[in-house]
Amino acid sequence: MMLKSAVLQSVTEKKFHRELGRFSGKQPGPLVICIGGIHGNEPAGALALENVLKKLRDASPPFRGELIALAGNVRALNSGVRYRHRDLNRMWLPERVSQIEDELPAQSATAEDAEQRELLDIIETALERHTGDAIFLDLHTTSSEGSPFAIISDTLTNRRLALELGVPIILGLEENLDGTILNYINDLGHAAIGFEAGQHRSPGSLLNHEAAVWVTLAAAGCIQPYYIHEFFDLRQHLKRSVGNVPRVMELRYRHEIREADEFVMQPGFMNFTRVTKGQLLANDRRGTVTSPENGLLFMPLYQSQGEDGFFLVREVKLFWLKVSAQLRKWKLDRLLPHLPGVHMLPDSPDSLKIDTRIAHWFVVEICHLLGFRKHTQQDDVLIVTRRRQSANS
Ligand SMILES: [Zn+2]
Repeated sequence: MMLKSAVLQSVTEKKFHRELGRFSGKQPGPLVICIGGIHGNEPAGALALENVLKKLRDASPPFRGELIALAGNVRALNSGVRYRHRDLNRMWLPERVSQIEDELPAQSATAEDAEQRELLDIIETALERHTGDAIFLDLHTTSSEGSPFAIISDTLTNRRLALELGVPIILGLEENLDGTILNYINDLGHAAIGFEAGQHRSPGSLLNHEAAVWVTLAAAGCIQPYYIHEFFDLRQHLKRSVGNVPRVMELRYRHEIREADEFVMQPGFMNFTRVTKGQLLANDRRGTVTSPENGLLFMPLYQSQGEDGFFLVREVKLFWLKVSAQLRKWKLDRLLPHLPGVHMLPDSPDSLKIDTRIAHWFVVEICHLLGFRKHTQQDDVLIVTRRRQSANS
């Protein structure tokens, strides 16, 4: 392997600035905004973005549009912690964002309030100036080893970009996490991909992040890959990092926990370990926690903090992805309110109300195919919601 990777161990002395850099060409094209280190204990993304910018400046290839590379939680990155007061990737709820747009900074604001305001300023200014497509790439790493993967809201544009990366894609998770920066960007109607490169300190994660940025720039039409030395080697590295894992998976189950649960995961599980119904996965105050169905285990909790014990995902065959893309192109979602037990919510075109006493089980599956993946159940009423769809998704 010819690729060299900076040693992540020495990162602690490094000081990041908000703007890692910008690069633009003379020709018009998409705006690509990349964020590294929105979690401060995940510096690999920010380092990879610096590498990409240096290579762009050195090679100065023909470039369409603009790349803006940002450090996420600068204060946390420079202290080597995940966050100072609160998770910066759970603060992007629409009400909150519009509130901080209007208000002057308060004396009592936390470090992350300041971080969010600074990021929002740069992102909003860039989006206002730009008229074409905007694509957002959010770079993360994980505490455990395992295959890289992408998390997206299920829109066709997001799918197209994420499939280019060649890593497993998780559908349905992004819609069910509130307040992520991806949620916020998706709801503005732009493409947004979350990329998990591998373990926090692994040199391979840095290379995978670099690969993901180059592949995204190429897929967006900003660069031609053959101008970039190492492009194909980096993409190969990313492909090789993917284990024997299905290409696309959807969320089936989320095991929510509270501190009082005293939840302890059984040792030895990794992302995408196959599990069977009834298999022992964890213990808590009430006894054993077993798998509710056959599937693949996802994000087992091995750190002390967190609200999710584990998730279960299952494979989605490419056939069904094609079916669902076609159904969306035909705009069959407009027929959903005609199914028995399904109603539109008058104030929200991206939500449906399903009466689970009347609707057949397959109604929910059809809603999934059409991108309605967020579930909120109240008694016999299930509300399913999708991310705002761009014109062609
Ligand atoms: Zn993260």
